[in-house]
Amino acid sequence: MDFDRSSASSRNPATPRPEGPGRLLIVEDDGSLAAGLARALGLEGYSVEHLETGEAALARIAEATFDLVVLDIGLPGIDGFEVLRRMRLSGHAMPVLVLTARDAVGDRVHGLDIGADDYMTKPFALPELAARVRALIRRGQADSGPRTTHGPLELDRAGRRAFLQGAPLELAAREWAVLQILLEKVEKVVSKESFIESLTNWEEDLSANAIEVYISRLRAKLEPAGIRIRTVRGFGYMLEEFKAG
Ligand code: CA
Repeated sequence: MDFDRSSASSRNPATPRPEGPGRLLIVEDDGSLAAGLARALGLEGYSVEHLETGEAALARIAEATFDLVVLDIGLPGIDGFEVLRRMRLSGHAMPVLVLTARDAVGDRVHGLDIGADDYMTKPFALPELAARVRALIRRGQADSGPRTTHGPLELDRAGRRAFLQGAPLELAAREWAVLQILLEKVEKVVSKESFIESLTNWEEDLSANAIEVYISRLRAKLEPAGIRIRTVRGFGYMLEEFKAG
């Protein structure tokens, strides 16, 4: 079958949409394949980041949210399966499209079993990949849950997305977790110890200093919109009640 891509590729790159259709992370150690993917998906309007190792991908995913991860299985160091497994273990629900060079049914089944949303076997046609990317992102957005409002802050807990005054707010996974704890106890003091206790399912140990870091990052992001996290000396932190209007 022949795909006519002329209308898409002739789109004027000088007038991109201010909010692209989505953020993609490509994890692929084959540089030329990754460059081709990034170019093709960039032309479709996606904002694309590219990383070459599973370790780098996990570090990035811990601090940023993507609409889709395109994940190669055959990576140096920890492979794509392990990246996916750890992502799901840490509660990251973002859709994952797995790329496998191995035309083995077992690989695909294993990928889907551990939480991939779709897979493609190399070599593949770029238009087909682009179509799958669009479908997965649409599905991911449709799966987003209802939003709850906390003053100027809106949260879609199912989709793990936050919006501040209507604009998407980027929160690292731990910032998100710390914020959830504060939101459960508005106007009540939460001690550093209870933060640490609530976050113990994370892989590394958390120190009280780390909690301070997450709080200060949250403040930097939320205070411009009038959301205040108060320090209660010797006790912990308290999210102040949201002001009306
Ligand atoms: Ca590879």
